[in-house]
Amino acid sequence: MIDPKYNFINKIFTLIILFGLAACTTQNETQVQDTEPQIFTQEMQQQITPEEALDRLKAGNKRFVNDSIKYKDYREQFEGTAEGQYPHSTVFACIDSRSSAEHFFDLGIGEIFKARIAGNALSEDVIGSMEFATKAAGSKLLTVIGHTNCGAVKGAIDNVEMGHLTGLLDKIKPAMEEVSDTLQPRTSDNKEFVTAVTKAHVQNVIAEIRSESEIISDLEEAGDIKIVGGIYDLSTGEVAFFE
Ligand SMILES: [Zn+2]
Repeated sequence: MIDPKYNFINKIFTLIILFGLAACTTQNETQVQDTEPQIFTQEMQQQITPEEALDRLKAGNKRFVNDSIKYKDYREQFEGTAEGQYPHSTVFACIDSRSSAEHFFDLGIGEIFKARIAGNALSEDVIGSMEFATKAAGSKLLTVIGHTNCGAVKGAIDNVEMGHLTGLLDKIKPAMEEVSDTLQPRTSDNKEFVTAVTKAHVQNVIAEIRSESEIISDLEEAGDIKIVGGIYDLSTGEVAFFE
């Protein structure tokens, strides 16, 4: 028969070992995260696939939403990227002060090219920038990200006219026609309608990029890049990709 006292001591030892192992695992996981490269290198850009680049954006947005943003040593990043940049993705977003891609995708300096125009209104200069970012500079993912409660989209719905803004808002208006008539009222006060117009506009922008840029559409057809639209929710921090 086993001595009850010995049995008790044995159990205590087992518990100590188990707790010790658990602590080691947590420490190792933390170490892996802490040592993850902060600088996106040329080698990493060459190796990453368009799908993996999208996964990187999704994972970063999950960290942003869950309040688990990775520590960023910006000094290390700007020192490490000063001689060259190898971004994996390009993000075309609105100028809105709450819609900053590095933040909502929790990415570092040198990881993404960004073009920002009110309401994601497309122009030849933006397309030219995208051609540079993909064909010349090697980014693998091209995203167009609208956002909820967009002032430019609301301005287009309200038919605002003001200086150069008038022409910019005209580029958003076709999206209104694409939203089902069943969605009423069709006003800027109706958040659901504004979001539906924003989504339709993002899709229109992507279609226009494909039709206007032979360089980008060829890259996409060859599988060298992927083009994806999405919408950033200002209130939750979440980016919903259209796939
Ligand atoms: Zn906006």
